Amino acid sequence: MRSYTLIAPAKINLYLEIISDAYGGLRQRPDGYHELAMILQSIELADKIHIKSLSAETIRVNCNHPQVPTDQSNLAYRAAALMAAQFPQALAEYGGVEITINKHIPVAAGLAGGSTNAAAVLMGIDLLWNLGLTKSELEELGATLGSDIPFCVAGGTVIATGRGEQLSPLASLDTIYIVLAKYRSLEVSTAWAYKTYRQEFGNSALRDSENLAARAAAVHSEAIVKAILNQNPGEIAAKLHNDLERVVLPAYPQVLHLRELFASQPQVLGTMMSGSGPTVFALVESEEQAQAVKLQMRAAIPDEDLELFVTRTITQGIHLASSV
Ligand code: ATP
Repeated sequence: MRSYTLIAPAKINLYLEIISDAYGGLRQRPDGYHELAMILQSIELADKIHIKSLSAETIRVNCNHPQVPTDQSNLAYRAAALMAAQFPQALAEYGGVEITINKHIPVAAGLAGGSTNAAAVLMGIDLLWNLGLTKSELEELGATLGSDIPFCVAGGTVIATGRGEQLSPLASLDTIYIVLAKYRSLEVSTAWAYKTYRQEFGNSALRDSENLAARAAAVHSEAIVKAILNQNPGEIAAKLHNDLERVVLPAYPQVLHLRELFASQPQVLGTMMSGSGPTVFALVESEEQAQAVKLQMRAAIPDEDLELFVTRTITQGIHLASSV
């Protein structure tokens, strides 16, 4: 029986803007989601997903991380269930699937850990069942499960709009080194972050006419897109942006502290929270500098609860490690 091992990379957000209308109200979509403009970047930090056929028509999930459920609430399980529902003949012909997740990406971290596992399962089952689906068909299926899944299939450096599922790829970025910092025990709910943002900033420009002008001047995704196209790490780092920092940093002083500590290191080109947090990342020019920044962070915060990773930008999403 065939089996596949796939690499499922994490992502960071180089840019995250919650779109307002001309009057500063948030543009909420009929489906309840906010309209977003993001720049998503694949990074080398990745989970390994092993997928093989089972003789019974069932789905089984194993994972080495205690915080990750192995039941139907696991996004990887839901991706397999979606494929089974879409392709019942293939399920009958090839049987069910056993999915083993080797977790390296911190959980509930703003790094799309669950989404990238789901994307890997879509691609793995496509291979296992000889479906021959195209990348855009896999992205479309993924979008029905979660907004970040299409990007995880595509990978690289991408502008994502809508609720994050509409993708416009950018030219591949030359390698930039990244240091990630996350408190193991700290989780931020994505739903809480967006809800709080809406409550606090939903209509701020209607009340404060200067706010819109200030926002328009400060927030400008074109500037970072240009910096990416010019392969200019310093300029990219200077234009990092994440609207959700406005609610997460005041509510989570530990995250703010990581951000300030990164910003105080001379090697750091720029720092930002990823997604709805609580992971904070720093961009640096070389691997040596990244290791030095990691050491300085560890010296400043000897707390074992703080996880630190050195990683780098990569140009691909889900990819095959091996098949047997
Ligand atoms: P995003 O950046 O897309 O918001 P995230 O990195 O913040 O995602 P995840 O790591 O995907 O968050 O985890 C969010 C929650 O989803 C966790 O609390 C976890 O229990 C649950 N979960 C379900 N499936 C998975 C999975 N395969 N990997 C990790 N977490 C999962």
